[in-house]
Amino acid sequence: MASVTIAAVRKRFGSVEVLHGVDIEIADGSFTVLVGPSGCGKSTLLRMIAGLEQISDGEIRIGERRVNELPPKQRDIAMVFQNYALYPHMTVRENLAFALMLAKADAATVEAKVSRAAAILGLTELLQRYPRQLSGGQRQRVAMGRAIVRDPQVFLFDEPLSNLDAQLRVAMRTEIKELHQRLGTTSVYVTHDQIEAMTMGDQIVVMRDGRVEQRGSPLALYDRPANQFVAGFIGSPAMNFLPATLRRSAAGAELELGDGTRLPAPPDSGGLDGQPVIFGTRPEHLSLSSEGGIRTEVVVVEPTGADTFVACRMPGSTQGKELQVLFHDRHAFAPGSTIRLQPDLQRAHVFDAGSGRRLA
Ligand code: ADP
Ligand code: MG
Repeated sequence: MASVTIAAVRKRFGSVEVLHGVDIEIADGSFTVLVGPSGCGKSTLLRMIAGLEQISDGEIRIGERRVNELPPKQRDIAMVFQNYALYPHMTVRENLAFALMLAKADAATVEAKVSRAAAILGLTELLQRYPRQLSGGQRQRVAMGRAIVRDPQVFLFDEPLSNLDAQLRVAMRTEIKELHQRLGTTSVYVTHDQIEAMTMGDQIVVMRDGRVEQRGSPLALYDRPANQFVAGFIGSPAMNFLPATLRRSAAGAELELGDGTRLPAPPDSGGLDGQPVIFGTRPEHLSLSSEGGIRTEVVVVEPTGADTFVACRMPGSTQGKELQVLFHDRHAFAPGSTIRLQPDLQRAHVFDAGSGRRLA
């Protein structure tokens, strides 16, 4: 196992720069998830760790070793891709053994490592099968097995679950996490799916347009997003954003919403009197109130059994459904009826309207 250090890394394809100075510290044995919208540079960064792309500027270290000039083979990493690329004409056993054979491992070592990987992944019964005789989940496990047999310092995953159906994806998510708990190998996992990031990562790195927006533990990002982008990206259903104006007086700070509603500003909100801000409140942090709060009109009610999801709008608004609310109990509001919603101000967020940065 080893740590991975990414220091001031840039990537240019021709004259176009796609990574603009990325710094990430990946602790030995951690599970780090790189998450962000499509095209933000996740795969490029992962491929640079793997040695499949040149590093235009900056440095990548695996453990103490600078790897910028090292070919992929000498980096002691194993990569699992989205399209698992098994050899169709080889059995599961042969697929697992292939990299070891290439490395000229002796027969006893190959047998021991293949058996161990198969046992870890529940593939022992399937060793004689060909890939076409396997389900999608089993194939994905073989792909992971091929990484495990190499016993690398670091596992790299590039959206390994995105070809699987929703149910299998959830099951494999748990398997990969459990595998990491068992093996403890440093892992870097790329996904565009924030739920995967939240559920799997010890550290999440949120990227956008070739930059790191924030990194931290899943709950740190959820509780204290550094800016409006991270706030909107992490959490499902997504955080509500309402434009507001900050009002400061001797009595304290308040937020004035578009409809004139005034809410006490969340604790520690910085900012100046009159400053345009964005008030952020998560759907699960709104509750019904008989007076005060935000007056809204119910648009749609969606019961899931466990929860009730309600889309609301503020009267007179032209924007449609501005407030999504998640109740952990049952409600049967009539569409068009008026309800008052009280945000939990201890857990609310305020961002500068211009820069999107958290005001704290
Ligand atoms: P992600 O994995 O986050 O979806 P990528 O790392 O694949 O994003 O791509 C980041 C950016 O780099 C994109 O704008 C993409 O078009 C560009 N890019 C990726 N690979 C190449 C390449 N070989 N040549 C030129 N541009 C590339
Ligand atoms: Mg990608």
